[in-house]
Amino acid sequence: MNGPAVYLVVPCYNEEAVLPETVKRLTEKLARMGEAGLAGEGSRILLVDDGSKDRTWALIQAFHGEDPRVEGVKLAHNRGHQNALLCGLMTALPRCDCAISLDADLQDDVEALDAFVEKFLEGCDVVYGVRNRRDTDTWFKRATAQGFYRIMRLLGADVVFNHADYRLMSRRALEGLSEYREVNLFLRGLVPLIGYRSDYVYYDRQERFAGESKYPFKKMLAFALDGITSFSVRPLKLISNLGILISVLSVFGLLYALISYFAGWAVSGWTAIVCSIWLLGGLQMLCLGVVGGYIGKIYSEVKARPRFRVEEALLHGPGDPGKDGHGTTADQDL
Ligand code: UDP
Ligand code: MG
Repeated sequence: MNGPAVYLVVPCYNEEAVLPETVKRLTEKLARMGEAGLAGEGSRILLVDDGSKDRTWALIQAFHGEDPRVEGVKLAHNRGHQNALLCGLMTALPRCDCAISLDADLQDDVEALDAFVEKFLEGCDVVYGVRNRRDTDTWFKRATAQGFYRIMRLLGADVVFNHADYRLMSRRALEGLSEYREVNLFLRGLVPLIGYRSDYVYYDRQERFAGESKYPFKKMLAFALDGITSFSVRPLKLISNLGILISVLSVFGLLYALISYFAGWAVSGWTAIVCSIWLLGGLQMLCLGVVGGYIGKIYSEVKARPRFRVEEALLHGPGDPGKDGHGTTADQDL
């Protein structure tokens, strides 16, 4: 076997129904990739047990016993898909040339794996798996998911349309990812921020072949909200804009109330009440917006995202450009 050390990182939560088949197919696929020169000696399948309550970990132990190329990590409790995935990627980082994350239910077509590694060998650091069709998803899932991508785009976050977490990352990109220390993880939004050369691989999303989805609507909604609030402070800016709008409108309201007063249309006391409601409402909204602006700044400071990443440098003389940007220019991620 020669080729890069490829890690297949698979988060698993209560996946006893699918794991035996998944491991069998991935092992076979990895062997075929080895023959084709796409996966070298150090290639592994890394299963991350996200605090499952069923026999998932016992199965992983058994697979590891049979074939040491199947590796496992067990989280102490259920931390959710994104955290499990990050744990897997960070475990793979010092051991691999590139890592590919995919779901345990084989919804992500394993035959597309060759295309990922080929792009990596061509020099890409990140390869995004993009779904061709979504007709295996229910109408509801399709509509909500696509609505979500649109909202994210509208709010200014750079997400790849119809890309879930089927993606290849080179070791260099993984190192970049390790510099993001935020707790509210939304990998789909973070990875494009890392930069470097990237490309797409298109595949058909299959149906989950056993077990049921671990992403009920409630979790999906929480995930979407997390994505939006982690990548955009535009909702906060919206409050300030609304405040400005209402304050301007209140001037017209004020004029109208005064005209009514002098024209004698108004009941006594009405003018004062209406004017104060409009003015105070607008002012309050504006102040909230100002406070929001500061909160937005605090939020981006707290996340402490790297400010830049040097890909290449042509320098003459002493001095080191540094590997990342902790410590100088302004944060431009938001
Ligand atoms: N998963 C996880 N932790 C969780 C929920 C899900 O590790 O808390 C894993 C799950 O085992 C699977 C992947 O995340 O490998 C995607 O989940 P699923 O297929 O249920 O989501 P869907 O495809 O229905 O969106
Ligand atoms: Mg699935």
